[in-house]
Amino acid sequence: MRPTSIVWCRSKEIATRLQEKWKGVVTDRRPVPHYLDGQFFESQTTQLYDVNDPSSQTLLSRTPQATSSEIDAIISSSQNAFLPWKRTSLLGRQQIMLRFSSLLRKHQDDVASIITLEQGKTFGDARGDVLRGLQVVEAACAAPNLMMQDHLEVARDMDTLARREPLGVTASINPFNFPAMCPLWSIPMALVTGNTHIIKPSERVPGASQMIVELAEMAGLPKGVLNIAHGGHDTVNALCDDPRVRAISFVGSDQGGKHVHDRGTKNGKRVQSNLGAKNHAVLLPDADKEAALDSIAGAAFGAAGQRCMALSVLVTVGQARKWIPELVEKAKALTVGIGFDPEVDVGPLISPRSKQRVLEIISSVEEEGGSILHDGREQKLSSPHHEKGNFVGPTIVRGQAGMRCYDEEIFGPVLTVVDCETFQEALELINSNRYGNGASVFTNSGSAARQFEMECEAGQIGINVPIPVPLPMFSWSGGKASALGDLGFYGKSSIMFYTKLKTVTSLWRKSSVDLGRGGKVSVNMPTIS
Ligand code: NAD
Repeated sequence: MRPTSIVWCRSKEIATRLQEKWKGVVTDRRPVPHYLDGQFFESQTTQLYDVNDPSSQTLLSRTPQATSSEIDAIISSSQNAFLPWKRTSLLGRQQIMLRFSSLLRKHQDDVASIITLEQGKTFGDARGDVLRGLQVVEAACAAPNLMMQDHLEVARDMDTLARREPLGVTASINPFNFPAMCPLWSIPMALVTGNTHIIKPSERVPGASQMIVELAEMAGLPKGVLNIAHGGHDTVNALCDDPRVRAISFVGSDQGGKHVHDRGTKNGKRVQSNLGAKNHAVLLPDADKEAALDSIAGAAFGAAGQRCMALSVLVTVGQARKWIPELVEKAKALTVGIGFDPEVDVGPLISPRSKQRVLEIISSVEEEGGSILHDGREQKLSSPHHEKGNFVGPTIVRGQAGMRCYDEEIFGPVLTVVDCETFQEALELINSNRYGNGASVFTNSGSAARQFEMECEAGQIGINVPIPVPLPMFSWSGGKASALGDLGFYGKSSIMFYTKLKTVTSLWRKSSVDLGRGGKVSVNMPTIS
């Protein structure tokens, strides 16, 4: 038997230590505070969402539904902070980002710990969650270069210059599955470009955002530039409706993202929405088998499949289908358990409801004519603590389009295998799927890789890479039904998203009198250049 009770005690110790060390972190069942004007403050609400440790259902804290007057105060604070922050020089803002990035790196393990406690993912994976957000902060430090614009003498003594100006108050609405990375997709780019920002963390995982604002404060960010408004749908709707909020970045489910996109744009805001996905990998028979199967198992079952870029469909071409038993062996070798256990590969799902849905989808496979190749419902669990957790073991099923396991985003550790005879058939399958976040091919053929790159319609393509998310010097490029809005998160796109273009045309020449010209008024559009 694995020493899970030791890991269990350790997670309690970690919870206590984090609460003692971090001003806004709560692990003893109290409501978490909002953050405004550089201070945490308790909500007066009576509406609270429970935050449970998903590996045990232990109640850690409660997320308050901000009252309308609290939301109003938070937006006012962000509005008041805007002009002074806009007038802070770009290099001054860059300095704060540089300090923020180094503090985030220094406290990476604490942020990862609260993620493992509240969200359940393994500690190693939680460190990756923080790192991927930290990389956006680091990329944001290049803002002076990214913000450079055009300047031209357009006529004699007449110049036009373009400048990018911040929008004002911006907000991000975040999902449960990346408690650090997703808020950090928005915060650094919104702030470095001169906007103020309100974080609406997922009500299920508030802790990482509480640490992020404290670190930003330590980095010297002025009061009010970064605030937190907690809550669920009511907070989201208030942010969508308030005219002072100029832009919203949403990451989450299809339903939530469409709602925010429609409501926000109807109210005249810029909205970028990253939504659900169904990511395919094509396995060609000429691939490096061992490396491909390792990558596929890691991408399908890592984070218990709760990644928008999780690999959820494996398309075998021709003889590659014969490798599935070896993939099953790799799935069987993965350990399911508490995220703080260093030997664990797959943590729990976020909630009992989520587990129930995943189990239902697995059950639907045989009813709909597919087969279960490896059944995670039968995963042996080794400790009494596990019994209360939302655990589902890695599962591999064989199915096809038209079945729930293929058509729906499962958001659990379930890989659906679809067999195709030809590469062309595999490409057509992917392109007929409504989602388009990412897709990969495993092959040793340069021409097949090239064809995949050119013909696959997903926005993020992997060649022998299972989760092809670009680093933040590029922009997020998920497409089709996986994204709404024209501009992707981070990179150059986010400079465009968080700023508006202003052009200034100026004329500085000697006066007409000096030049010997009369004072004749011209009423025509210029006819010569
Ligand atoms: P979710 O949509 O339930 O919640 C996301 C946020 O939106 C939360 O803050 C929630 O309070 C709010 N919200 C949800 N529905 C709402 C509604 N109807 N009205 C107002 N507010 C609403 O998503 P989740 O379960 O937290 O996250 C999982 C989903 O996020 C998956 O579908 C996953 O694919 C997606 N996701 C996408 C990306 C991406 O970049 N494409 C990244 C991470 C997660």
